[in-house]
Amino acid sequence: MKYGRTYNFSAGPAMMPEEVLEEIAAEMMNYRGSGMCVMEMSHRSKAFEQIRDAAEANLRKLMNIPANYRVLFVQGGGTVQFAMVPMNLMKNGVGCYVETGAWSKKAIAEAKKYGEVRVVASSADRNFSYIPDCSDLDIPERADYVYICENETINGTTYHKLPNTKGHLLVADQSSMFLSRPCNVADYALIWAGVQKNVGPAGMAVVIIREDLLREDLPQFVPTYLNYKTHADSDSLYNTPNCWAIYCCGKVFEYLLAHGGLEAQAARNAEKAAVFYDFLDNSRFFTGAVRREDRSFMNVPFVTPSKEQDAAVVSAATAAGFDNLKGHKSVGGLRASIYNAMPKEGVEALVDFLKKYEAAQN
Ligand SMILES: *Cc1c(COP(=O)(O)O)cnc(C)c1O
Repeated sequence: MKYGRTYNFSAGPAMMPEEVLEEIAAEMMNYRGSGMCVMEMSHRSKAFEQIRDAAEANLRKLMNIPANYRVLFVQGGGTVQFAMVPMNLMKNGVGCYVETGAWSKKAIAEAKKYGEVRVVASSADRNFSYIPDCSDLDIPERADYVYICENETINGTTYHKLPNTKGHLLVADQSSMFLSRPCNVADYALIWAGVQKNVGPAGMAVVIIREDLLREDLPQFVPTYLNYKTHADSDSLYNTPNCWAIYCCGKVFEYLLAHGGLEAQAARNAEKAAVFYDFLDNSRFFTGAVRREDRSFMNVPFVTPSKEQDAAVVSAATAAGFDNLKGHKSVGGLRASIYNAMPKEGVEALVDFLKKYEAAQN
């Protein structure tokens, strides 16, 4: 690694591609002859308008987003989406949620403030270590949408097949898997992702919403800023947006396009995940925490035989230059987040370290 950087296995904010950081550094003091940094630039300037438009255009190309979907850049990170989804999509006042871990629980708790929530499937019975069967959910006819967290960052599960929503709208929190594999946008009514896991700096979410779901007639209590239509009507420039995040995310979209798009990225991610899971499957000291068929390619939680040994591994790994391997406080153990920007060499180096650690236990 250049510049004395470490392999950062954080669940978010997370690593960004080195090439992108270098480009940003090169443009820091004077963005393309504008005489200023993007951070200093008016969001109404020509230069920034081009940055925003290019970011959207490149994301559209990357995900092959159909023309009847709008792309929005909204502040408030991922968490604001827990409220915006029910505020904007509950017409009949009923949301169906699949409960697969901490992030879907947060979405459920927030949605309950605005309407009725039906938990139509859950994996709480086995500590959220799997994705429940979603082929025949009991969805009331009046339900406004079915909501999933497509990759549970803390628990390390992912949907390898989308739920059967029986004709109802599908809403997905893709925060920790956004742009990690090809995605058929038309399968969804709304996709949102906090960008600090797989794309750029914290504080913003990308929202991809089907145009016909934008509404004028929201309840009076909904703040102007929290109506998706506000952002759609103003090209995400209703107020001063998170210009810096839009700029950095745009760079990452460009980078992904230049490196073969999402098919190529998915292949790289599959390779990295295979290195890690092969190791876990063959280890007698470390154990993966997730049912095999539901494993995430992005977040890999695992444990040793005891809490004390979990902590000892984390300390030894940190000393060896592998950062942020401690599992989330709600589940313990260890977790390696191996997002798009984690190089394969980083995963190989960590696995090598863990193998040696294991060998030294005997
Ligand atoms: C991180 C995360 C969030 C919350 O994002 P913030 O920007 O911190 O609010 C929501 N959902 C998932 C799946 C996440 O990983």
